[in-house]
Amino acid sequence: MPNSRTVPSVIENYIRSSVNCPVALIGCRASGKSHDCCEYDLALFTEESRQSEVLDIGGHAVELLYFSKQPRSYAVELQEMAIMRDDNRLSLASAAKGMTLQAGHKALVAAGRKSLVGSLFYQQKMTDAAENPAIAGMWAKFAAYQFLGGMLELSGARPMPLHELEQVRQADTSAGLADGIQAALECIGTERATRPAISRSIEATMELKSKDHDRDLVLSKVNHLLERQMLSDCYFYIGRMASENLARRSDSFYARYAKLIQLSMDLTNDVQELKKLQRRLFRAANAGLKV
Ligand SMILES: [Zn+2]
Repeated sequence: MPNSRTVPSVIENYIRSSVNCPVALIGCRASGKSHDCCEYDLALFTEESRQSEVLDIGGHAVELLYFSKQPRSYAVELQEMAIMRDDNRLSLASAAKGMTLQAGHKALVAAGRKSLVGSLFYQQKMTDAAENPAIAGMWAKFAAYQFLGGMLELSGARPMPLHELEQVRQADTSAGLADGIQAALECIGTERATRPAISRSIEATMELKSKDHDRDLVLSKVNHLLERQMLSDCYFYIGRMASENLARRSDSFYARYAKLIQLSMDLTNDVQELKKLQRRLFRAANAGLKV
């Protein structure tokens, strides 16, 4: 478990002076696998449920995430937490003792199964939307991202969006999920990652995210990946952010903004190809559920 020295002192000072509830550093900064552009994710344990927010603290991006349930309800999120501030009433330290590696792994496997079921659900949506190629393509990409997240969780890794393609590349595929991973990546289209395609996706995704609290943070991460020529990672990340946003929308939104969706997710209209990929994803998701 990393200690609080991994956090800049200006953020430590902020916690000391402005936060009066238990706080833990979570996310990629706590796992020690972050890029310079990554924010510091702080889990704040308060009973009031509040919307997440992004702050600039001394030039560092900090995302405040409000956790209103007992710490043990967040076994996956808190797996690699570094406690920054604790109190006796709701002791993070004693909760951490109960959250053994084994319990964390069990929670990840449960999350993984849920994601694979989610992938099958989106695959069914894709089949149902066959007469509308653009929307079918959107469901197919949702299904592919869900499959990859689930596969990572089943392998014991917590998906971290900006790092997820790298995590997928390094994943242990011994459970027979290799073909599913390949199909998911083909469906997402990481090999089609060109700068013009990425530019179009950025513009459309930022429009989708115009009201999201993390819009600017996502944009700065995208630019960071672009500057480092990490085109596939960037393409993957934008598509994932767009899919997260779109998954919360309604059917009437999909019908009304089909063009915006098509641009944000860089969708193709090749239904035959999608069907082939979906069959491979279907087999892999079911194989994963049997493990
Ligand atoms: Zn990160």
